Amino acid sequence: MHGYMGKILRVDLTAGTVWDEPLNEAYAREFVGGSGLAARYAYDMVTADTDPLGAENPLIFMTGPLVGTAMPSAGRYSVGALSPATGLWGEANSGGFFGPELRFAGYDGIIITGKSACPVWLSIIEGEATLYEAADVWGLDSYTTQKCVRELMGESRARVACIGPAGENLAAMAAVMNDHGRAAGRTGMGAVMGAKKLKAIGVRGKARVPVADAQTLNALAKAIIAGVEDDMAAASIRMAGTAGYVDMALMYGDMPIRYYQQGTWDEGSNLSGILMLDNYQNRTLACYRCPIACGRETRAPSYGVDKVDGPEYETLGALGSLVLIADLEAVIYAGHLCNLYGLDTISAGATIALACELFARGLLTSADTGGLEIHYGDAAMVHRLLEMMARREGFGALLADGSYALAKRFGAPELAAVVNKLEVPMHDPRAFSAMAAIYALSPRGACHMQGDMYGVDTGQGPAYELGITPGERFEVSEEKGRIAARQQAWRTLYNALTLCQFQNPGVERLLAALNAVTGWGLTQDDLLPLGKRILALKRRLNLRRGLTRAAERLPDLLLQPLDGGTEGNVPDLEPLLAGAYAEYGWDLETGVPLPIP
Ligand code: SF4
Repeated sequence: MHGYMGKILRVDLTAGTVWDEPLNEAYAREFVGGSGLAARYAYDMVTADTDPLGAENPLIFMTGPLVGTAMPSAGRYSVGALSPATGLWGEANSGGFFGPELRFAGYDGIIITGKSACPVWLSIIEGEATLYEAADVWGLDSYTTQKCVRELMGESRARVACIGPAGENLAAMAAVMNDHGRAAGRTGMGAVMGAKKLKAIGVRGKARVPVADAQTLNALAKAIIAGVEDDMAAASIRMAGTAGYVDMALMYGDMPIRYYQQGTWDEGSNLSGILMLDNYQNRTLACYRCPIACGRETRAPSYGVDKVDGPEYETLGALGSLVLIADLEAVIYAGHLCNLYGLDTISAGATIALACELFARGLLTSADTGGLEIHYGDAAMVHRLLEMMARREGFGALLADGSYALAKRFGAPELAAVVNKLEVPMHDPRAFSAMAAIYALSPRGACHMQGDMYGVDTGQGPAYELGITPGERFEVSEEKGRIAARQQAWRTLYNALTLCQFQNPGVERLLAALNAVTGWGLTQDDLLPLGKRILALKRRLNLRRGLTRAAERLPDLLLQPLDGGTEGNVPDLEPLLAGAYAEYGWDLETGVPLPIP
């Protein structure tokens, strides 16, 4: 089977056993890879009652057909499981080198079930998998863990995915970390790993991914790399990282301020990617075979840190504008703490911002926080709360359960800026109305990574051949809902491949590359149905877990008009949803998809 290693590693942590299983080729052909293929496996393994932190919840690491091939920017992996944050299907993906190395070690993915009695880590070298006790690495931060595991493996070039203290302490926003500071951040996959007492997975190998037509793929890869020079969006990300979007985001009102309640903030420009480039950047970082190199290595000298991964735009928003911190170095350091502890910066920052808001409203007092005064703009407090959250210390134990639980605990569930219990990322649907439908319909709760309509409507990576066309950013109509659904399906396919969404070589070249790798002989007409099939499967899984049509709504805070770049716009969700449902073939009343074709 071209494009796949043909093998899945199975791990039962309760029994302490590992074994190889052939890849289910039918699943791979229908659900491709990444979170699509992971969800297909999970669909057979979870019920309405499966506890996300229980032994039965499978934790699935999965690559896609393009990973580890000559295709540029295809070095990602997905990790999926039922989410302890949402109770629904959870997934996150990450770049770096772990995904390709897993394939070189001989596997398309790893399915982990059970729970170990004591902490363990997993070594995979050249197709040989072994579990080891992790007493010496349990408790370490994510950077030290990666270094220790490489030493224990005796493989200086091994790639390691691991959890930090946040995952060990089952924080709902715990990430899986790899390649130093790369994070599979969202939906608490680190907590699932922590509940299984699995500290780390180290991988090393030299196998090659079988490719149907290497000559064509190599020619396409060359053309795609050359094409990056002409891609304005890629060039901008290359120059200033995703942080380069800050100024534009502030202009559009896309970057949320003061817990999604403020339209303008003059100090926001202090968080600009250009300032970061000039004052704090050490160098750029690239994932496996990526010519864009959006990653940044920065420094925070005032905090004694000379090497920080990031921060990304999302981190600058969640730990900057959302909590009114305009000190760029303090935000860089906050991002560093998240990397060390293994926290998703979006959910961690948003939960702390909610605590600031509850405190400002008098719903939370120092009597609840062990004497802490939690105010917007207090960088030292944010740093302290991140550590307390990761370690579940004092008030941090309440923060560690995430925004929805925190707001509910203090009698104000309507204040939680969440969709299906997942914190809203740093793209405000009042700035780009179609994002309202994307958040409402995302299988993992509010997700900006599978349906970047803020990109489409600013002309970044449209796919005209697929009917994904830029338009007026405030438009709400059934047609706009259809376009949003197509973009969500398209990015869902990207995620399954798994290809970075900053790599936009055009539909024709991407299709040719996929066919060159797999030999599938797909046409353009096959692409969106693949994404829609994956979305329908995840939806069926979520319906089994109790998802309701009524949950597809924006949080109350995001339905208040703001001044500034959003110009008072508040998206009307219903026409957008009607269009999206029609595009997907889902019943508008029940939300149930048609049978999977
Ligand atoms: S654009 Fe950035 S995230 Fe995407 S593959 Fe390249 S370096 Fe990685």
